Amino acid sequence: MPSPFPVHSRLAASFLPRTAVLEMTYRCSHACLFCSCPWYAPGGRFDERTELGTGQWKEVLARLCRMGVTELCFTGGEPLLKEDLLGLVEFAARCRSEHVRSEGEELIVEVKPPHLHLLTNGLAMSEEVLALCKRHQVHLGMSLPGLTTFREHTQRSEPQGVLRWFRRAAEEGVRTHVGITVTRKNLHELYETMAEALLAGAGEVLLNRFMPGGRGLVHARDLMLDADGIRQMLATAEQVLRLANRHGNVGTELPRCLFDASAHTHLKVGSDCAAAIEFFVVDPSGYVRACNHSPERLVPFEQIEALKDHPVWRRFVAREHQPAACAGCALASCCAGGCREAARIWNGQLDSLDPVFEGGCLPKPVPRSG
Ligand code: SF4
Ligand code: SF4
Repeated sequence: MPSPFPVHSRLAASFLPRTAVLEMTYRCSHACLFCSCPWYAPGGRFDERTELGTGQWKEVLARLCRMGVTELCFTGGEPLLKEDLLGLVEFAARCRSEHVRSEGEELIVEVKPPHLHLLTNGLAMSEEVLALCKRHQVHLGMSLPGLTTFREHTQRSEPQGVLRWFRRAAEEGVRTHVGITVTRKNLHELYETMAEALLAGAGEVLLNRFMPGGRGLVHARDLMLDADGIRQMLATAEQVLRLANRHGNVGTELPRCLFDASAHTHLKVGSDCAAAIEFFVVDPSGYVRACNHSPERLVPFEQIEALKDHPVWRRFVAREHQPAACAGCALASCCAGGCREAARIWNGQLDSLDPVFEGGCLPKPVPRSG
């Protein structure tokens, strides 16, 4: 309930960002060509360790809520393959977090359940899962990487199942978004993919450009968009969203000088790296990483307080990871020069160039005025 007294300032419950991405299991029922889960990288560079059990996950969930995390995002692998996933979502819905927001000069503090999100490939969706989402206002995200190319991308199933669950979710009033990873193979049908999802009832659109990592490393040359492909993706998405009068986001940050932000009224495109600032990850074995694209475990969850002193975490927090080519850019305070982990995976260092700059295109620093 909101505090009965006016509050003007307040110490944060902890140093943690407010969103925790929870990778519940390494397992998945799809074998997507583009999958960036680090444990699918060739050569076993990121090993799969023993997964946390139900009791351990409950301790993680409860501690995160005590530490001020207000958004819990269940993902994987495929989270619906995790034993007792539904019980863990029920448990999370009974936790309490401190939600702080500002209204004018006042801070409104409410202690209530965290917001819950479930990201699934849709293959194991059921009426039981849908009922759970409805009961606890779980925001349901389902992936649709193309229509005619769906099977080629997932190597398993067809898009009709996901579209059917969007229709059912809409009938039940469950909030949804469609997650579309855009590749060179499905860019040509992005318009139709978005349109089908929205017509089926998907509430919002979350686009992710293909980024190298995990299994996707093997297929990177066939899937990665160049700068022209990125611009085509943005223009198509904006066109569909305007026609449908809906809104969407690009989840994987893009260099600001690569596109004309003023051309977008319905598509929000992020440019600043949000890792360790807006979100962080707990992996299937309980290790903390800065981003789901990160191939580096930082600390085991039980040592989470040590995270704030970890040099990699500190680098993300201090935004000390911009490429030298961005030096002096007027937009440097709101643009990280692309994805920092994709840069590390593809070009070796956190402050390397984003792979979108392959092929001759380079960052174009915007001059400071005055
Ligand atoms: S030069 Fe670098 S910081 Fe500036 S807009 Fe381009 S990518 Fe972003
Ligand atoms: S590492 Fe990349 S994907 Fe992760 S938050 Fe930063 S820019 Fe985004």
